Amino acid sequence: MIWNKERETMPRREIEALQLEGLKWTVDRVYERVPYYRAKMDAIGLKPKHIRTLKDVQLLPYMTKQDFRDNYPFHNFAVPKEELVRIHASSGTTGKPTVVGYTRNDLEMWTELMARIVCQAGVMPGDTAQIAFSYGLFTGAFGLHYGLERVGCGVVPIGGGNTEKQLMLMEDFGTTVLIATPSYALYLGERAQELGIDIEKRLKLRVGLFGSEPWTEEMRRAIENSLHIKATDNYGMSELIGPGVAGDCEEFCGMHIAEDHFLVETIDSESGEVLPVGSEGELVFTSLDKEALPVIRYRTRDISVIDDTPCACGRTHARMRKISGRADDMLIIRGVNVFPSQIESALLGISGIGPHYQIHVYRRNHLDDLEVLVEFTDDTLLDNYKKLMALTEHAREKLYNTLGIHVKVRLVEPHSIERTQIGKAKRVFDHRNEPEQ
Ligand code: ADP
Ligand code: ZN
Repeated sequence: MIWNKERETMPRREIEALQLEGLKWTVDRVYERVPYYRAKMDAIGLKPKHIRTLKDVQLLPYMTKQDFRDNYPFHNFAVPKEELVRIHASSGTTGKPTVVGYTRNDLEMWTELMARIVCQAGVMPGDTAQIAFSYGLFTGAFGLHYGLERVGCGVVPIGGGNTEKQLMLMEDFGTTVLIATPSYALYLGERAQELGIDIEKRLKLRVGLFGSEPWTEEMRRAIENSLHIKATDNYGMSELIGPGVAGDCEEFCGMHIAEDHFLVETIDSESGEVLPVGSEGELVFTSLDKEALPVIRYRTRDISVIDDTPCACGRTHARMRKISGRADDMLIIRGVNVFPSQIESALLGISGIGPHYQIHVYRRNHLDDLEVLVEFTDDTLLDNYKKLMALTEHAREKLYNTLGIHVKVRLVEPHSIERTQIGKAKRVFDHRNEPEQ
């Protein structure tokens, strides 16, 4: 079901006209109301009137996470605090969080966007949707909550964690839609199996909207097999609005970006140079109609590829490929660039190895060492040293072929790696700045 046919199937020319109007409106507004950004423009002699075409977006200075930090909490807002009807903040593990705010119109726009995302994932009015994202300052739960309600779904706002209760309600309420992080979805499937719940027979799950953390196609398949669900990917971030920026349609050929509300560019992370559509690079977004917190050329650090060819679903908005990594998650190991997602893909492609893993980086004798801990799935391997060693060797070889560097692999017992039940999974542990043991 297409939620907003007029907007979602708009011919490209019309999208671009709408975008230009939104861009001009946003630049005017920011120049007038956001002093730090006005100063950035003034420093290069740029005035709002210089923005005449969509391509002129490239004249505008970037915004980064640092701008949010420097203007904490409300100095980058374009409205007085009294006009905010909601304030969220990102989980920022160190220091002050990133604060984002919404006017009433912003919330309305976000709700509409979420309704769109939910429908394109295949959710229907009448579905029962269980939200296993944490409610709180994090944007995920509230975004989905209002979008699902708008579509006409029965929302079960259980929040994060409480796994056994999640499974009980799923069965008793006949939950058809699950909202969670991919890592938690996987954990739910695992717990169900441990509790002897026959998911296929006893649960009615049909669609999952997953996101908020990186996950690979291999992880998608693992979740689909375990929960007997169609697992859709959904992308967003607090700085832009929260979830709702992009989501899978039922064709599964990339996530449609809400191009009527956001202008997307891809840039080279290192040089900052704009890349042609279709090249892999860092995504940069400009909001087109946000009131409280307009963003101009916000550097996400997320790496993807944009595809603006038509989609079989009928929607005309460009699609972004699954995020393949974050510019700042890239590990440089002995000079070689390694993305955690490459490790996940390699490991999940090996049978006998579970989807739970951790990546540890050490510096020993001035050299970087990468160690991967991954669970084997077959309990009987505990008593079969030879087989265990063969599987370890296989994983080591596969990682070497994928990454081009030697990686230490330690196969660990099933269920021994801690599961993340609330919030985003932490899989990479960089010990290089810790004192050497
Ligand atoms: P925080 O983590 O600081 O609370 P957000 O929840 O807004 O902030 O997180 C946004 C980030 O989460 C994105 O920049 C991206 O790196 C990651 N993210 C969100 N959705 C996805 C997704 N579907 N796939 C991969 N990464 C995602
Ligand atoms: Zn589509």
